[in-house]
Amino acid sequence: MKKYMLFTVFLTLLFFDQEFVQAQNIKSAGGPTLVIHGGAGTILKENMTPEDEKAYHEKLKEALHAGYEILNSGGTSENAVITAIMIMEDSPLFNAGKGAVFTNEGTNEMDASIMNGGDGSAGAVAGIKTIKNPILAAQAVKNNSEHVMMAGNGAEQFAVDQNIERVDASYFYTERRKKQLDNLKEAEKANEEGSIKQWRDYKYGTVGAVALDKNGNICAATSTGGMTNKKYGRIGDAPVIGAGTFANKTCGVSATGHGEYFIRNVVAYDIAAMMEYKKIPLGAAAENVIMEKLKRIGGGGGVVALDSNGNISMTFNTPGMYRGYIQKEGKARTYIYKIEG
Ligand code: ASP
Repeated sequence: MKKYMLFTVFLTLLFFDQEFVQAQNIKSAGGPTLVIHGGAGTILKENMTPEDEKAYHEKLKEALHAGYEILNSGGTSENAVITAIMIMEDSPLFNAGKGAVFTNEGTNEMDASIMNGGDGSAGAVAGIKTIKNPILAAQAVKNNSEHVMMAGNGAEQFAVDQNIERVDASYFYTERRKKQLDNLKEAEKANEEGSIKQWRDYKYGTVGAVALDKNGNICAATSTGGMTNKKYGRIGDAPVIGAGTFANKTCGVSATGHGEYFIRNVVAYDIAAMMEYKKIPLGAAAENVIMEKLKRIGGGGGVVALDSNGNISMTFNTPGMYRGYIQKEGKARTYIYKIEG
């Protein structure tokens, strides 16, 4: 009898010890590497159909393979992140480009940024409404202007002058996002705190990519529709270099989450600074910022990051984050929820 009891206690302990981790650190395999995210948030298995899951995995894999093909054939990390991000921007699944969320006024206003760690160049656009792939506009700011960030009509005009494809604003209309706005507005009207939180936190959904190419250069980029129901021209962290995106010779970071917290905590740069000044490894630096600093103050979200050796971190403090990576052997690995650690 006693034996049985002990065995039960042992099993219970074993069960409770089984952790579901939100900090996935993957060792470098050497060679070019790409890591991407499609947004963090309250992404729970019980709210997803097998079809939804399949669609997300497939799109993430498509983006990883396309980016990796560039890296593997000697292309630059900049081209790889642009290619991966454009695939996600063109998909209605993510809150960027085609699937951008709605503002309070019922418009779609997008932000994007890119930073090349090799030469330290950076570009960003904020609050743009008619550019099909905002990441291309951010890249044009970086490569073809003397500025780092452009906003609103001026940014759109610049993109058009750069021959970047423009679409009618209605291109960004999707039923699903409109419903999310309506639900959140209704919840706000009824002042239901729980529902407001539920609809707001449901999924941040930004897309991002960080790549390391054969020349050892890192590039990071992020693109987003921002947060549902945003008002008064609100801009998040995604176009803010150092907050949502950062790359130097040490590492590259792309973030997703509640932008205000990421700006105030200069998240992407904080990870890079910890690595550079305190010699803290990438995974530990990301965990410190996301799982401790941000979590403590209620800043939901996550990052994907790479160091100059090709070590990967995918760390988030929300129930899920669409994410994936591809290394030397060319196999794309994608994830949605916490994984068993
Ligand atoms: N970080 C984005 C923002 O605050 C939202 C997201 O990650 O989905 O605009």
